[in-house]
Amino acid sequence: MSDQVAHFIGGAPVAEGPLFPVHDPVTGAVVRQVHEADRATVDRAVRAARAALPAWAGLSVAERAQWMRRLADAIEERFEDLVAAEIADTGKSITQTRTLDIPRGAANFRSFAEIAAQRPDSAFHLPGVLSYTVPKPLGVVAVIVPWNLPFLLMTWKLGPALVAGNTVVVKPSENTPGSAAVLAEIAAGIGLPPGVLNVIHGYGGSSAGQFLVEHDGVDAVTFTGESRTGSTIMKSVADRVKPISFELGGKNAGLVFADADLDAAVEGCVRSVFTNGGQVCLCTERLYVERPVFEDFTARLAERARALVFGRPQDENTTMMPMISAEHRDKVLSYYDLAKADGAKVWAGGGVPSFGDDRDSGYYVEPTVLTGLPAGSRVNREEIFGPVCHIAPFDTEAEAVALANDSEYGLAATLWTTGLDRAHRVARQLEAGLVWVNTWYLRDLRTPFGGVGLSGIGREGGVHSLDFYSEPTTITIKL
Ligand code: NAD
Repeated sequence: MSDQVAHFIGGAPVAEGPLFPVHDPVTGAVVRQVHEADRATVDRAVRAARAALPAWAGLSVAERAQWMRRLADAIEERFEDLVAAEIADTGKSITQTRTLDIPRGAANFRSFAEIAAQRPDSAFHLPGVLSYTVPKPLGVVAVIVPWNLPFLLMTWKLGPALVAGNTVVVKPSENTPGSAAVLAEIAAGIGLPPGVLNVIHGYGGSSAGQFLVEHDGVDAVTFTGESRTGSTIMKSVADRVKPISFELGGKNAGLVFADADLDAAVEGCVRSVFTNGGQVCLCTERLYVERPVFEDFTARLAERARALVFGRPQDENTTMMPMISAEHRDKVLSYYDLAKADGAKVWAGGGVPSFGDDRDSGYYVEPTVLTGLPAGSRVNREEIFGPVCHIAPFDTEAEAVALANDSEYGLAATLWTTGLDRAHRVARQLEAGLVWVNTWYLRDLRTPFGGVGLSGIGREGGVHSLDFYSEPTTITIKL
């Protein structure tokens, strides 16, 4: 990939539109310049996707599944290029990028190839009547994705959308265009039919993202990002009643009961609070701990937070990464300040680390552990999307469930207990699309994924993705 990133339309690079910079979050330096799509470029991409649709939709599922496997193989061949692109844009650690972000990208194509190929046809029999359904693609799908897990989240949508016979126009985040640009090269390299996968770059509102979702030639929108952006997109597609799938924000709760394996709970919460700098929609920002273990748990989590390693991304021991941008760092720090102003006790962090080198111009914040804020504090209600959690004590199971559910969001919850009965009883009472018991972010890609409330609309994963990315036609014959 060159330092200037072009769009990928109809199987070829298209270098048009003004250039905008992408910054390395580690140092703040400009890593690349990217072309911004205007309405004309977006129109070109949507037309390319439309032109490719009949032939792509006309392939059998088995043939499209074979293309998905080829993409997965080619991703593995370009593995280190994808790792480098992802690190340059996000400042993630090489260890995480090699074990999570890029392997999941290949797995997303491979799993949906298998899931689609094995999907049974539906036929329903009544006396003298045969009904069956034929799944058809939605058409041209707009894929709009965020910056926190750029490759993983993009391919999570591309795999099922493409195998279901849609053609796509992807708009990666303006902060993280790199791995999408490498994927475009990979698609061209394996000879994926031109127009099946198109990538355009640019910002969201009044730019490429908005122009894409508003385009009359776009039949459906699949979006991962902030709840507020989801609301804006929903309004802009309302007149055309376009199908939408929304994976949005979270303010996820974790419950730690006194009967939990406390070592496992502390380690699990270190992961669920601080992974990816806390910039995962599934990260825990509110922890509730049963009173007898509250002090011990909090002290141990704070100690582990202070021990996280702010190395360079290329250092395999690095466990803490920067925020994605100066703007996002300032947002996270504003919540640290608010917590202090509201009287929080700061057990760890609360500020900006100092390195004495070029990382001082990067976008780092300290991993932070807070206690002592009321449930109504904005720190406890709003998604911060940084390496921070607030911990509050609880006395009864019912109180723990009520505290966890006291949120407008409902994406993920974690539950730490050795009581099997309690695990089942509490898990089903939690108002969240995903509940993890004694673990976090353990995924079987066949299971439904998504949230309730402000956290989203619909479910993706396994056949649930295929259901969204296709429209069934029911054919009924009188025999
Ligand atoms: P964002 O909403 O600011 O941007 C996401 C994408 O939408 C970007 O590509 C952006 O350019 C585009 N966009 C912005 N405004 C738009 C508009 N008006 N029309 C069309 N496109 C527009 O989100 P972000 O800051 O990139 O990502 C962080 C957010 O994503 C957090 O809220 C996080 O919880 C959420 N997220 C959710 C999930 C999930 O699966 N539920 C996964 C990851 C991230």
